[in-house]
Amino acid sequence: MKSAIGFIGLGNMGGPMAANLIKAGHKVTGFDLAPASLEAAKASGVTIAASAIDAVANADIVLTMLPNGKLVLDVWEEIAPHVKTGAFVIDSSTIDVDSARKAHAIFAGTDKITLDAPVSGGTMGAEAATLTFMVGGPAAAFAHVESFLQAMGKRIVHCGDAGAGQAAKICNNMILGISMIGVAEAFVLGEKLGLSHESLYNVASTSSGQCWALTTNCPVPGPVANSPANRDYKPGFMTSLMLKDMKLSQAAALSSGASTPLGAEATQLFDLFEKLGHGNEDFSAIIRFLRGDHLGK
Ligand code: NAD
Repeated sequence: MKSAIGFIGLGNMGGPMAANLIKAGHKVTGFDLAPASLEAAKASGVTIAASAIDAVANADIVLTMLPNGKLVLDVWEEIAPHVKTGAFVIDSSTIDVDSARKAHAIFAGTDKITLDAPVSGGTMGAEAATLTFMVGGPAAAFAHVESFLQAMGKRIVHCGDAGAGQAAKICNNMILGISMIGVAEAFVLGEKLGLSHESLYNVASTSSGQCWALTTNCPVPGPVANSPANRDYKPGFMTSLMLKDMKLSQAAALSSGASTPLGAEATQLFDLFEKLGHGNEDFSAIIRFLRGDHLGK
């Protein structure tokens, strides 16, 4: 079914996601604070609204794709009185679980249906419509929007009730942050032991050390032809975004009482790496820090 979409936040992710909705035949009305984002969205066929309120006024489905939880709450508060009866309101930003639950609560007791639906797959996934959506909210609402989300993604997973999508996203990314550091440490140790990158890769990639950080985003150049290490760590997935997600995982661990000592340690390491000026590099570049490259070793 073709729908009228109100899309707020047309940046690196939201822009291409909105473009894919247009390709799928939906009518998208969008709003962003940045003129450059608006211009790019207009070029891909988005009708530009004068405000967030105008963007949602006639929408069957509202989507937000914003930098953080505070902005999502601000925007949802602002648009709430103007969203159409029976409309779906979906946030695909990566935000903390507590803010996600507060966002759902803004519409509690109304006839609007809310879902948190953060994504993984990065800007390349947003452009290619191959994102994974992790969705939190009522099962009936999920069933209703699943095919709509398929215009932007290839895997749409219902994770549970309100906030469960964000919970799945930060748990997954905490695994990723920790495992990348583990893989990088193993390559640095192998280097000291005189082991070639290829030998370690050939063994670990086919045995119990196998993981995405090794076989897709390998932190050394060579074994995986298109991993960011082969292009001087041009992202990929920027260190600053990895750090954001690691911090969200630690905020959730604190508020839920979970013990995540490796998550805490990995967060510290990415924090230090970013403070050394590497926030815009792919997060696999952390291997340079672990190797001591910043010390001129
Ligand atoms: P971005 O900074 O490129 O885009 C965010 C957009 O929101 C900007 O264009 C900004 O002008 C706009 N914006 C901010 N406040 C606004 C407001 N009040 N009203 C309207 N527009 C507003 O960020 P991005 O890379 O597109 O990321 C968006 C979200 O997706 C973040 O939560 C991020 O963590 C998540 N995410 C990003 C990636 C990635 O690889 N970039 C991957 C997965 C998830």
